[in-house]
Amino acid sequence: MERYLTEFDTNILPEETVDTVIIGAGVAGLSTALQLSNLGIKPLIISKKEPDISNSFLAQGGIAAAIGKDDTPELHFIDTVKAGKGLCIEKNVRVLVEEGLERVVDLITIGVPFDKDKNGLPLLTKEAAHSKRRVLHVKDRTGSAIGKTLYQEINKRNIKLDTCFYLEEILVEDNVFKGIIVSNNTEKRFIRSKSLVLATGGYSPLYKRNTSAYKVGGDVLSIAFRAGAVLKDLEFVQFHPTALNLPDYPAYLISEAVRGEGAILVNDKGERFVDELKPRDEVARAIYMQYKQGRKVFLDISPLKEKGINFKERFPSIYKMLKEAGLENKNLIPVSPAAHYSIGGIEAKPNGKTNIEGIFSVGEISCTGIHGANRLASNSLLECIVFGYKTSYSVYLYNMYTKVDKRFNEKNIIKRTEILQKKDFILQQLKDIMWDSVGLIREEKPLKEALSKIQRLENQLYSYKNVRYLLDLVYLAKAVVLSALNRKESRGTHFRLDFPKENDQYKKHTKIYNNFKIKMEVN
Ligand SMILES: Cc1cc2nc3c(=O)[nH]c(=O)nc-3n(C[C@H](O)[C@H](O)[C@H](O)COP(=O)(O)OP(=O)(O)OC[C@H]3O[C@@H](n4cnc5c(N)ncnc54)[C@H](O)[C@@H]3O)c2cc1C
Repeated sequence: MERYLTEFDTNILPEETVDTVIIGAGVAGLSTALQLSNLGIKPLIISKKEPDISNSFLAQGGIAAAIGKDDTPELHFIDTVKAGKGLCIEKNVRVLVEEGLERVVDLITIGVPFDKDKNGLPLLTKEAAHSKRRVLHVKDRTGSAIGKTLYQEINKRNIKLDTCFYLEEILVEDNVFKGIIVSNNTEKRFIRSKSLVLATGGYSPLYKRNTSAYKVGGDVLSIAFRAGAVLKDLEFVQFHPTALNLPDYPAYLISEAVRGEGAILVNDKGERFVDELKPRDEVARAIYMQYKQGRKVFLDISPLKEKGINFKERFPSIYKMLKEAGLENKNLIPVSPAAHYSIGGIEAKPNGKTNIEGIFSVGEISCTGIHGANRLASNSLLECIVFGYKTSYSVYLYNMYTKVDKRFNEKNIIKRTEILQKKDFILQQLKDIMWDSVGLIREEKPLKEALSKIQRLENQLYSYKNVRYLLDLVYLAKAVVLSALNRKESRGTHFRLDFPKENDQYKKHTKIYNNFKIKMEVN
């Protein structure tokens, strides 16, 4: 792909050198940083926002691990693979469920205050498609409790975190990582390091309705793509069935744990129309079809009250959000699906390795194949801590045999000075296209139309100056649409009206390369 805007002159930028940079201060970035420092490497963490403004800190339901007495990693493995609809990379799932137990113990020992029963044992909840109660939680603030505890540990170790800096460019030569360029509103910096860990989360903000903490997301996937990283399974985007559906209100998530505790879904005729604890994709599509038929859908929380569960106490964050919306005394909460989790991402191994030497990726930005075609609820926080831990070891080993390349910018002169122009109306158009044509239900004609519209946006952007982040989002959207067009079957979160069944010819992973060429491969 053309390096269209990589016009920096690295010679004139303030420059610094560190061993390792981690981009992202969610649970993936923080847990990688913590273990790296345990191994004696103090990374520099760069993040566009403070840690508490991240999807990690929004995670409500909990973190899955086979910690219950009647549970085993094998059962957790079976549930994960079943939800993944034939596309999970099973050896990686084994790592997740087995090492997940140890990493959850680490969280307990550093002080994450998981809810406990009267005997002091972790209280476990059940979520869709889990055969056991295995979701540890801190009320409905699990992500924030884990994130805060990790952040405290990071602070104790004096690890530097620079917030309000955006990754702009990854510099790679002959498929080897050399450095990055980051910027804020006033300053641009060139950072040389031996290795780079990308932990910047997913691309659900590409969609108009989404549950994310960010208005913009996924740009780093595109930056990595331009640098040569392979992107995988981008067509698999998980839509959460129950996000608040009020006009002019953000699509706040109402955790699956609420259904796990007994809430049911009804339409405006008071009819139940789906088993609420089926996998997310099936429940989300059932709700979507109700709306298509002109019905409205509500989450009925009265069964929780009948069971004696104090909603305000068990789900304080959701209660607070309902109160803001004036719904705190209602039993029927209006809900509809919203883009929630990116299954696809940078192709990575459980130890974070990507196809570019020195670049590692971890958490929601990466695709290790553990979610297959559909993520099992509460497996993503687990992914962040298990693969974050493993990534720290591979970074350590890589750094051991690598030197920072001090000569790099002598050969790589690229210039850029102007400030990014804001073209928010283009962002809005892009989000509408993705929501309308690349959402829960897909079909060849609307997908092709989406591709042409995205192409038009891309051409329009070339006539402006310095709209890098928008171009990156456009490239990513194009890669998602091409992946969705290429998969002529329905599997997990990817539903094609024109190919409504699974087709084993497509029991493969979609890989998209720098030139937008697609290949389907078994692993
Ligand atoms: C509302 C909600 C509820 C959820 N509930 C659960 C749950 O109960 N259980 C579960 O397992 N999962 C849940 N998930 C999913 C889970 O929270 C995420 O998959 C996971 O936290 C992702 O962590 P991460 O560290 O990879 O990314 P994030 O937490 O998204 O962190 C990304 C970091 O990267 C930074 N960043 C992004 N772009 C740039 C850039 N260009 N330059 C610099 N920095 C950048 C951000 O500032 C942030 O610090 C939920 C998600 C949402 C949205």
